[in-house]
Amino acid sequence: MFVLRDLVLPALFVFLPVGPATADEAGELACGGIAKQSGLLVCTGPSDIKIDIAAPDGSAARTVATDADGRVFIGLMQDEASALILTPQQESIEPVKVDVAAREDDYRVIRGLDCDKVDARTDAQKAHAADSWVKKQDAFASFNDGPGATLGFIKPAAGPTSSPFGPTRKYIGVGADGTECESTSVHRGYDMAVPTGTLITAPAGGTVILGDPDLYYEGGAVFLDHGGGLVSVFMHMSRVDVEAGDVVETGEPLGLSGNTGRTTGPHLHWAVKWRNTASDDRGGDFYIDPALLLELDG
Ligand SMILES: [Zn+2]
Repeated sequence: MFVLRDLVLPALFVFLPVGPATADEAGELACGGIAKQSGLLVCTGPSDIKIDIAAPDGSAARTVATDADGRVFIGLMQDEASALILTPQQESIEPVKVDVAAREDDYRVIRGLDCDKVDARTDAQKAHAADSWVKKQDAFASFNDGPGATLGFIKPAAGPTSSPFGPTRKYIGVGADGTECESTSVHRGYDMAVPTGTLITAPAGGTVILGDPDLYYEGGAVFLDHGGGLVSVFMHMSRVDVEAGDVVETGEPLGLSGNTGRTTGPHLHWAVKWRNTASDDRGGDFYIDPALLLELDG
């Protein structure tokens, strides 16, 4: 490369076309989507540019990047600041300010759980949980473009909402030996009350990155990469009919709902993880509210 460059007349570079090649490349940064905590911004601009994001006081700083089509999905955290400034690293493009609507999430205590389902306690359970963890990390490290990274999301099962995204749950239970146990977690999915055996379908197109009948916490699970960093996770399934590498369109079957893994009854837990495509550090990824995605225009 350097040899080639040395051999080419420097003037050739000077006379190469400079500036925008297309209207898109000249474009401004424009954002739509769901500007609410745990929502998703959908921004478009020039392709492959980095965008620094931070609250006006500089907190919550991170950097994202547009894809080859000039689009980027930007997940919003559950405790996101009330405003964000999006500053393209390309100086010719104006920063964009986005006001972020607040959400109100409640706090619940859930009693009567079987402690053996709350935490992995026995060696066999710990080994199962550790094995599941590795599978999940591997899946989340895999990125696919998906069939168009569609914006139109539909519900993955026909059933009423039984628990929304967002509330904190404190589980208190008693184990077989009579001792109490507890654990606290935020509900990072959207639960639909459906009987075991209900058909689960893809809420949007994507590439399956994990299909496993028996993850420790999740039970039967499917991870579906919609592209743009977005992954749907379906848990507690009684039957998994897809495997890693399968490409599905919106509405195509993934398997059947169930009561497997850490559950309190048959239901579908649908979670959506936003992953920062501009980062190799998966620790900065987080779950967003699937119900908000249903409000996006397709
Ligand atoms: Zn759930």
